Amino acid sequence: TVLCLSVAILSTHAADDAGFAGGQKVKHNYQSDVARLRKIVINSLYSHQEIFIRELVSNANDALEKLRLTALTDKGVWNGEPLNITIKAVKDEDGKGGRIIITDTGIGMSPEELTTNLGTLAKSGTSDFLAKAEGQGQDGTGNGNLIGAFGLGFYSSFLVADRVTVASIPPKSAKVPEPAQHVFSSSADDAAFEIFPDPRGNILGRGTEITLFLKSDALEYLETDKIKELIHKHSSFSSSFPVYLFTQR
Ligand code: ADP
Ligand code: MG
Repeated sequence: TVLCLSVAILSTHAADDAGFAGGQKVKHNYQSDVARLRKIVINSLYSHQEIFIRELVSNANDALEKLRLTALTDKGVWNGEPLNITIKAVKDEDGKGGRIIITDTGIGMSPEELTTNLGTLAKSGTSDFLAKAEGQGQDGTGNGNLIGAFGLGFYSSFLVADRVTVASIPPKSAKVPEPAQHVFSSSADDAAFEIFPDPRGNILGRGTEITLFLKSDALEYLETDKIKELIHKHSSFSSSFPVYLFTQR
């Protein structure tokens, strides 16, 4: 289900490091396999740009499923309120760029999980993918079938974004009695990423917010109709939870 709502988007503060004042900011280098994968994504898969939406919606869906499962044994993590995914497209005031913000109220990530899940490749089969993709050269022509077979996951964000921030906070639990919202921030051309406490505080309550600062050749994705079309096109991957699409008024 994709539900379209037209609203005035008022709060558009990004979990940005610009003007970052307090707290500790920790810089991590990507694991070498991630660096290789990101290079392939950025340099040779631009003809498959649109798959980012399928990957990010499916991750949001997985996070909501994980919350539901966790709640079976740890009731405190979810009080039964409806679970959903929201997508907002926010155009910059100067009209030159914009952001896509995908938010879920799912299981979230601690700062350690942000580092491990987004900075290393734990997936089996990734080395195979890397070997095959690199073997096919840098023009990207032969990589379409590989994407279908392996999925690029979170790194497909860099097909459309030159910078990505992920703000996340896990639910309160015995393991994490006082969660604090943290941010993962990375540029497409950077070999490192940063983790820091969200200067906006714990505004999500629970879950994950992914902000894509769109590249100049990806601004078509600011049009809600385009996003809607893509979610329907890849509907076999889309969500079992409602997806709310907000448009700027
Ligand atoms: P995969 O989904 O195949 O595991 P991805 O690259 O898509 O690989 O995501 C890597 C990992 O990052 C996921 O396994 C999950 O642990 C974490 N992750 C990504 N997106 C989210 C999200 N929206 N909420 C919670 N965890 C997430
Ligand atoms: Mg995934």
